[in-house]
Amino acid sequence: MSVKVRIAPSPTGFLHVGTGQSALYNWLFARKNGGTFQLRIEDTDRERSTKEYEQSIFDALAWLGLTPDGEISRQSEHAGQYRSALEELLAEGKAFYCRHTQEELEAERKNQESKKEPPRHLCDHKNSREEESGIIRLAVKEDDRIIKFDDIIRGPIEFQASLLGDFSIAKSLDEALYNFAVVMDDADMRITHVIRGEDHISNTPKQILIYEALGLPIPHFAHLPLILASDRSKLSKRHGAVAVVDYKKDYLPEALSNFLGSIGYTFSKEILTKEEMISEFDLSKVHKSGAVFDVKKLNWINAQYIRRLSASEFKGLTGLKVSDEAVLLITERLEKLSDASEFSYLWSEPEYPKELLLWKTSSSEEVKQSLEKSLKFLEPLEWGREAMVAGLGHLSNEAGGKGPVFWPLRVALSGKDKSPDPIDIALAIGKEETIKRVQKAVNQLDEQD
Ligand SMILES: [Zn+2]
Repeated sequence: MSVKVRIAPSPTGFLHVGTGQSALYNWLFARKNGGTFQLRIEDTDRERSTKEYEQSIFDALAWLGLTPDGEISRQSEHAGQYRSALEELLAEGKAFYCRHTQEELEAERKNQESKKEPPRHLCDHKNSREEESGIIRLAVKEDDRIIKFDDIIRGPIEFQASLLGDFSIAKSLDEALYNFAVVMDDADMRITHVIRGEDHISNTPKQILIYEALGLPIPHFAHLPLILASDRSKLSKRHGAVAVVDYKKDYLPEALSNFLGSIGYTFSKEILTKEEMISEFDLSKVHKSGAVFDVKKLNWINAQYIRRLSASEFKGLTGLKVSDEAVLLITERLEKLSDASEFSYLWSEPEYPKELLLWKTSSSEEVKQSLEKSLKFLEPLEWGREAMVAGLGHLSNEAGGKGPVFWPLRVALSGKDKSPDPIDIALAIGKEETIKRVQKAVNQLDEQD
């Protein structure tokens, strides 16, 4: 039987990075085993589900390079199947209508609490078949049964069936509840391995009982660790960006998937392609405990990927019109794509207060003279690194240090007190622009306040 896995996000929001990670592990497992990776849209919440969110989920997966195989399944299209399966369970007495009121259920819960029993509904309508309204519950035997499953990541997990009570599976024939719909869909899609977040562990025994009641084969289960915020709570909106789409402006998709992959798994190296991840991936080796979403680590990984971009790739991504030398200056220093704007002096003339040109205790006149000397040297120069290093080195010796020459030159070219070496900037922006900027600095110092 060939491997078939799925992710099942709800189109009630953007794709969460945790779902992105889950998609990646599902995809890696499918690719590793020559199986298929499918997408199911869980759109039964009609009020909150939108087509826009659905589209954004497709886009986010495509951006991460995790395009699903085959057709997309939508839960809203399966209502007919749910209904007939519910009717069958009711006819067989495996499910029943519960007529208890909210107040009665509440009283039962309070009574159980006072006796320190787990909250659950033990329904005495189980054997009555007359009623045809109310919530539909699965008839769970009140015996000592232990429901066991072998989680591929966590090993054997056991639940006492009697703690579940007669849990609800549908609000009515046309309103299947979560666990019932998931089981029906996974069976319908012939999913062989359900790989999902650990927050679903407690749903698993209920789902197993539903599979059994329906007489359907039970898939393998693997529960992935949660992604945690730096305070070790579950990563959520209050910690900042959690939607995959939020990462698009700053991160390369290869970097984000590399990062998401390595949060819950120890690969042989820190930077690796998806193909390398596939060849190393072993689902049983996914970590059992949650790991922190460390933005510093993500930035570091992103920087490694940015460095590997060719000049034309970088220009294509950012839309910047700069020389290839300038691209190199940027990509060697960049962690996040949107920070490229900090290097705007490489494509547009910088503005700065003229006081910034002054090196330490130098007077305005001294700085002006230094810049004029540099200008005199640069104007006839055949543009090149070696000649520039030699010439500016010579001027520095004359001035008694590098500072008096390089500082004003740096400010003239970048408008900043921290920047790459002014020689690198001069080579990146070219001779004409360099001369123009140094001249402008001299003129600024000439101006009377
Ligand atoms: Zn009841």
